[in-house]
Amino acid sequence: MGLRIVMLGAPGAGKGTQAKRVADAHSLPHISTGDIFRANLAQGTPLGTKAKEYMDAGTLVPDELTCALVADRLAEADCAPGYILDGFPRSLPQAENLERLLDDRSQRLDVAVNIDVPDPEIVGRLTARRSCPQCGRIYNLTYDPPRREGVCDDDGAALVQRDDDREETIRERLRVYHETTEPIIAFYEERGILKTIPASKMPPDDVFAQIEELLAAVRAG
Ligand code: ADP
Ligand code: AMP
Repeated sequence: MGLRIVMLGAPGAGKGTQAKRVADAHSLPHISTGDIFRANLAQGTPLGTKAKEYMDAGTLVPDELTCALVADRLAEADCAPGYILDGFPRSLPQAENLERLLDDRSQRLDVAVNIDVPDPEIVGRLTARRSCPQCGRIYNLTYDPPRREGVCDDDGAALVQRDDDREETIRERLRVYHETTEPIIAFYEERGILKTIPASKMPPDDVFAQIEELLAAVRAG
């Protein structure tokens, strides 16, 4: 049975960290809209240049642009057995758009996993975030440092800090999250597929174990 999973949570809640692990464990594509925008930026595409304006400001890339991108990605063959969406949807129009897209194919999401972490913890996590530009693995200088400083454990690439992980941008991203993204928690609750993990002070392995438990329950029906 395939699985269609949406990861919800504030910026820095651990969506990317967990989505990568779940994707590896279940052989599903990990679709992060943020990663797609950053890859476009690195390649200098018009989409990347456009997205940068919003990313640098800590605001959301417009819904039409983001939804079109996701529709194209979900139409690719590797998405047939399911996928994990990380960072999408991020607004009610995006959630509605995704629902219509799935309806058109007589499909539905299996679960929306909401990783719940309070704002004060988020700021500390994001200022210490580093990532591998090669494989996408995410580290944290405080909670999950690489074995050798500044270098990815898996492929030896030099780790980078995201431009938008500066404190003032983080505060704006949190504001946008509460105003525009948080209402989609109720949207998925109404559809009966919301599962919230209270992840304050919870180590990544424990969050992963909880996600695996709830995915097993979803699979069992
Ligand atoms: P998101 O994708 O939700 O923005 P990330 O997965 O990139 O969040 O995680 C943000 C930062 O917090 C990273 O530096 C990551 O290593 C760290 N992190 C992720 N999960 C936890 C956790 N359970 N406890 C402490 N730090 C974490
Ligand atoms: P992320 O990597 O998920 O933290 O996303 C980084 C940035 O990319 C966000 O702050 C937004 O500017 C943009 N972005 C990512 N996903 C979306 C989305 N679904 N809708 C709008 N903007 C997005």
